[in-house]
Amino acid sequence: MILSHTAYRSHLVAQATRELAGTPMHLCGWVETVRDHGGVLFFHLRDATGKLQVILDPGRLSPEAAEEAGRIRPEWVVMFSGTLRPRPPGTEHTSLDSKDIELEAHGFEILGVAASLPFRPQDRDKVSEERRLKDRAVDLRSDTMQANLRLRHKVVASFRSSLDSEGFIEVETPCLAKSTPEGARDFLVPSRLQPGAYFALPQSPQLFKQILMAGGIERYYQVARCFRDEDLRANRQPEFTQLDIEASFVNESDVMCLVEAIIRKALEDVGRPLDPKPFPIITYQEAVDRYGTDAPDLRFGLTIVNLTRVFADTEFHLFRKILDSGGQVLGLAIPGSFQLSRKSIETIRAKAEEAGAEAPAWGHIEAGVFSSSLAKFLSEKERKAIAEAMGNGENDLILFQAGKDPKTLRLNMGRIRLLAADLLGLTGEHRHLSFIWVVRFPWLEWDPSRGRYVAVHHPFTSPVDLSVFQSETRSVLESALAASYDLVLNGEEVGGGSIRIHRADLQRRMLEILGLGKEEIEARFGFLLQALAQGAPPHGGIALGLDRFTSILTGSESIRDVIAFPKTQTGTCPLTGAPTQVARRGYLRL
Ligand code: ASP
Repeated sequence: MILSHTAYRSHLVAQATRELAGTPMHLCGWVETVRDHGGVLFFHLRDATGKLQVILDPGRLSPEAAEEAGRIRPEWVVMFSGTLRPRPPGTEHTSLDSKDIELEAHGFEILGVAASLPFRPQDRDKVSEERRLKDRAVDLRSDTMQANLRLRHKVVASFRSSLDSEGFIEVETPCLAKSTPEGARDFLVPSRLQPGAYFALPQSPQLFKQILMAGGIERYYQVARCFRDEDLRANRQPEFTQLDIEASFVNESDVMCLVEAIIRKALEDVGRPLDPKPFPIITYQEAVDRYGTDAPDLRFGLTIVNLTRVFADTEFHLFRKILDSGGQVLGLAIPGSFQLSRKSIETIRAKAEEAGAEAPAWGHIEAGVFSSSLAKFLSEKERKAIAEAMGNGENDLILFQAGKDPKTLRLNMGRIRLLAADLLGLTGEHRHLSFIWVVRFPWLEWDPSRGRYVAVHHPFTSPVDLSVFQSETRSVLESALAASYDLVLNGEEVGGGSIRIHRADLQRRMLEILGLGKEEIEARFGFLLQALAQGAPPHGGIALGLDRFTSILTGSESIRDVIAFPKTQTGTCPLTGAPTQVARRGYLRL
């Protein structure tokens, strides 16, 4: 390594190992702690590679140097010169990386002093996030931020190297661009040279990467910054980073295989190898039916079962009413081994209500029949059939939801499934990584507020069956499936992509189906249609959300912990104070 030895240092802390005992060295870094033991000073020195104990006896320094040594405070930047020596047996410092050696310093130079600090990096958990984001220079020194940013870098470096060896090249696409519809609001930048005209910051490089395919690049990727002006939810940022990929002459499984392979390699590279079983693939419909969401967490089972048939002839008035109006009944079994107390069941019911669902009805399976306070409303046959449909697990708790709208019903049951899993402690284990592919999403969705169809993925996604383009029939369009795929990790979407419409005539037709008029199509997407009409290969791709991906890997509560300079939930930057008012003529040029 060229820079392990620089003008200031002879070694990095990580290089100071027992084999080098007796070697004179200059080490640089931040002083983490200072202790005075009977006049001898003990420092913990931290650099980007590790920590080491440094011992300095001021009695062996000139009176001026001794006085200066006494001034050194935590978070000062210091260069120590000395000799590495083994620590006496029994005194090894277990909290430091280099625990069996220490530097016996005979000189030092203060390189940077720290004014009094709002918090110590090692105390980051004790201060508010606002504080940490404001004093990010201090926070970034913490073990957590150091580890997170280094892991993020390693993952990205691994992706880059894997894609490079597959013949992908990184191409930069513009930030001053034209609106790309990914379903969010654009950030706009006024153009000084074209008064009244605006650039849009890209919501994704979608159209550029497709034009790169028409341009014969064939295999593109980019670690791309994307901008979406959305109302910020807990784990969203107005600007975020995607690993954006596009390839020509591929189908869905080609893209999925590639992505699975580069993820496996990246996890291997960061010491988290996955078991070799391929990522499960389930359809959107299965995901929603069995788990009540299109991004299911499969670290645990808890499968939703449709009990509508079982209750077909029920006289239980509550369910009867719902079934008669075309509704459904769903059940969820929680294995008896969890032995949930009455109180826990009430907690699930209360939380379900808080989340906007009905409090689920419940009971247990006992000796092959369903028993509950509801049981008196149910026939013997029904009680047996419920037990059987729910897997007949002795003492399993069964939760029910009934409702008229199948979509809402499933979403509610999906929420209850997660609430139960949380309560049972099944979701907290972030070391366990459960990837799945969700495929075959609907292609279009009717948006009643706009009175038109919207694309479920985006308007450039191909349907699985191209013959739908010939149809005007609502039912055909509404039941069409998209050639798209989402990658889900521990119940969170970490990526999504699709095979694209690569024929200009079909892309134009899609935009018409979405209700765009001829002129609007030309004005907004003429450049894409033109490129597709100039000889475009079949192509498809995906984008992985790097912030979310790394925050799951590191078990971070917030994606802000894997981004060096994130925005707060109100879209501001406490460090710089952005966004700010700008004087009419802009800031003074420096
Ligand atoms: N552009 C899409 C997105 O940002 C990803 C893709 O379809 O490749 O979600």
